[in-house]
Amino acid sequence: MQSQRLCDEEQQHHLLEQVSSPASLREATARVWFIQDGCGMVCAFITWFLVLYADFVVTFVMLLPSKSVAYAVVNGVLFNCLAVLALTSHLRTMLTDPGAVPKGNATKEYVSSLQLKPGEVLYKCPKCCSIKPQRAHHCSICKRCIRKMDHHCPWVNNCVGENNQRFFVLFTMYIAMISTYALVLSVLQFYTCVRTDWSECSDFSPPVAVLLIIFLFLEAILFLTFTAVMFSTQIQSICSDEMVAERLKNEKLKKGRRVRWDSMKTVFGGQPSLLWINPFAGLRLRKLITSQTLRAGPEFSV
Ligand SMILES: [Zn+2]
Ligand SMILES: [Zn+2]
Repeated sequence: MQSQRLCDEEQQHHLLEQVSSPASLREATARVWFIQDGCGMVCAFITWFLVLYADFVVTFVMLLPSKSVAYAVVNGVLFNCLAVLALTSHLRTMLTDPGAVPKGNATKEYVSSLQLKPGEVLYKCPKCCSIKPQRAHHCSICKRCIRKMDHHCPWVNNCVGENNQRFFVLFTMYIAMISTYALVLSVLQFYTCVRTDWSECSDFSPPVAVLLIIFLFLEAILFLTFTAVMFSTQIQSICSDEMVAERLKNEKLKKGRRVRWDSMKTVFGGQPSLLWINPFAGLRLRKLITSQTLRAGPEFSV
């Protein structure tokens, strides 16, 4: 039984090499990716607007009018760095191919060119007519099958899948961090201004400054709650090596030992280092190749 399973896995890896060569994967990761979905584009725009709004209030309403230059510079630099990291993570999540399977390749001619051995089977997606690897799911918004698809997130206007999950995790982490930071700065600002005089506290008139800070406070609470939940869900998914889409469909996968740590290294790209939390750093191609297997199914059998 076990030897049969091993044999199947070997056959699947053999097929994988033919379907997704390193050259085609390199091509896929280099290609420009942007989902033209109206709702997603509006949500992504709102995300950017809210982050830039928070940056504006923190910089121009709270820090620049501050009497302490050191307080303003240190907090200004830190907050802006976190905002840049959050927006970069957002852009990389949105513009990275999440792991789309080549479209329309499930043709009789292509399958016969793979020279399948007797007993080897491939699964075909009827919606995008592609050969579907194991753990790939079809996304109706992207109109593609996505490898290790977690979910489609309108806030990043993209699917979260094998190739961009790290950027999505970083996006939720940095948004949670700047939200916490904005909350702390807002409370400190209120505390300072109530003790002194609001007119000396900001370059804006007191009612405008109060409204801007209250809106920032509410936005930060909302963002913090949302991203903290999302971040913990993602880490839980990575540690258990089970995507949300699989959990919803109740798919059972064979899990080996040390799944938690190996899965973290697969998603974040190699041994722990500062690269893990650097959204400017790309993913290593090696992980894309080793983490795919094909799924056995009824559509094409020899
Ligand atoms: Zn599909
Ligand atoms: Zn999608």
